[in-house]
Amino acid sequence: MKVKEQLLTLSPYKPGKPIEEVKKEYNLETVVKLASNENPYGCSNRVKEAIYEELNHMALYPDGYSAELRTALAEYLHVKGEQLIFGNGSDEVIQIICRALLSPETNTVMATPTFPQYRHNAVIEGAEIREVPLRNGDHDLSAMLSAIDEQTTVVWVCSPNNPTGTYVKQKDLMEFIKQVPKHTLIVMDEAYYEYAAQEEDFPQTVDLLDEYENLIVLRTFSKAYGLASLRIGYGIANEALLQRIEPAREPFNTSRMAQKAAIEALKDQDFINECKRKNEDGLQQYYAFCEKNGLNYYPSYTNFVLIDFGQPGDEVFQFLLERGYIVRSGNALGFPTSVRITIGTKEQNEQIIQLLQEYVSKHKSFA
Ligand SMILES: *Cc1c(COP(=O)(O)O)cnc(C)c1O
Repeated sequence: MKVKEQLLTLSPYKPGKPIEEVKKEYNLETVVKLASNENPYGCSNRVKEAIYEELNHMALYPDGYSAELRTALAEYLHVKGEQLIFGNGSDEVIQIICRALLSPETNTVMATPTFPQYRHNAVIEGAEIREVPLRNGDHDLSAMLSAIDEQTTVVWVCSPNNPTGTYVKQKDLMEFIKQVPKHTLIVMDEAYYEYAAQEEDFPQTVDLLDEYENLIVLRTFSKAYGLASLRIGYGIANEALLQRIEPAREPFNTSRMAQKAAIEALKDQDFINECKRKNEDGLQQYYAFCEKNGLNYYPSYTNFVLIDFGQPGDEVFQFLLERGYIVRSGNALGFPTSVRITIGTKEQNEQIIQLLQEYVSKHKSFA
C-alpha cells in the first residue's frame, strides 16, 4: 500500500505513559499527571448535571450546526452566530483550516518552537513549511512577515505560545496584522486566552474581526474550562470566510455531550475566575523556586511554566516520573534543557518543587 509520501516523515502522536503503568513500574501509590495543561480543578459542577441529562439522547446524532451552543457562545463573545466554527477540540479547527487552505502549491509560516499541530497538519497537506525561530520566547513577527510571500495562505500566531507561555503584545500584533497581505489567513491560537486576557496589553482580537477579514481566532474548552476529554473548541472569524472553509468540516464533528457541557461551562464564570486565581498563585510558587535557585524561566500567561534546568530535560522528567509526577520534557518541545510543568493544586506544586529542589541541590554540589 502506498500512503502519501509526506506521512512517512511524521510519527504518530506519542501519548505519555498511562498513570497505571507508571504506578506499577515504580511501585507508587499515587501518580499525578501535569503534562497536558489540563485543569487540576476539573470542571464546573454545572457541567456534570447537564451531561447526566444528555444520557437520555445517546442514540441521536448531535446537532451538526451546534445551534444552541452557537447562540450561547455568540452572546457571550458579542459576535454573530455565523461568526463561529466548532471543532472536535481546537485541534480539529486547525486541521479544518489546513484542509481548506493548504496544498503543495502553497506555503505556511509559523514560529518554532510552537504548538506542533500546525506543522503536523501542514505536512499532511503537502504545503511548504516556513518556521521562524522565537526571539526570547516570543514570536519574531517582523521575521515572520518577511517569510510571507504570494504563496503563503496561512500564518500561525500562538498567543500565549505553547510551550513558552508568553503572548504577543497588542502594539506588536497590530503592527503585524496591518502588514499581512489579504491572501494570507492569520490564525491566532488563543488556547490559553482565559489565563492571559486580563493583561493590559493582551490584544482583544475578537474586536479586530470586522476590520480584518483574513483573521481567525481559535479558543477551546479544554484548558481553563476543564473539558479536555469532551473535545470541543472553536474558531471566531467573519462570516464570509467561515462559509468558505465550512465544507472542510465533518457534519457531526462535535458530540451532544460536548455541546451541552460547553453551554453550561460558559455560564459558570465564577469557576473560571477561581481557577485563574489559584493558577496565578501556583505560577508564583514556581517563580519563587526559580529565583531562589537562579533558574531561567519564561513568565507565563498560561497554566504551565517552562523552566530551564541547564540539565537534560529528559533527566529532570525521569527524576519526577520515578517520584510520581508526570510532566513534559522540553526535549521534544524544542527546549532540550527545560521541562514544561502544568500548574497543579497548591499541594501538588509544593511537592513537585520540593522534589525539584532536591534535584537542583544534588546537581549543584557536583558542579
Ligand atoms: C491544548 C492546545 C490546543 C488544542 O486544544 P484542544 O483540546 O484540541 O481544543 C491548541 N493550541 C494550543 C496552543 C494548545 O496548547
